Amino acid sequence: MHELSLMLNIIDIIEKEYLKNEDGKIKTIALKVGEFSGVVPEALEFAFEAIKNDSDIYDEANMIIDLVPFKVICKDCNNIFTPDMEYFLQCPKCGSKNTEIQSGRELYIDYIEIDEKE
Ligand SMILES: [Zn+2]
Repeated sequence: MHELSLMLNIIDIIEKEYLKNEDGKIKTIALKVGEFSGVVPEALEFAFEAIKNDSDIYDEANMIIDLVPFKVICKDCNNIFTPDMEYFLQCPKCGSKNTEIQSGRELYIDYIEIDEKE
């Protein structure tokens, strides 16, 4: 399952780079996920729920997934559009195939909220 290994990676990054205190708890994990990133948000949430029970670091953790729409820009007429099909990137306005994906491939940690205990 792709999303589970992805979620394990995210957790690994959070624990190594964000969690400074051993008694700290993760409050929020906010992710940016592009519609065209190949990741299914529901599967990611499912993976997170499974991981959550492994450690009390995540007792109060909440995951927010911000879905970034799939947008393509036409380099000939600057028209921005959402293709009907993932591999059909022709501009619907002028018919040009000189197009570029503008957004929708994102997959990163937007921000993390941590409750650091003294
Ligand atoms: Zn165009």
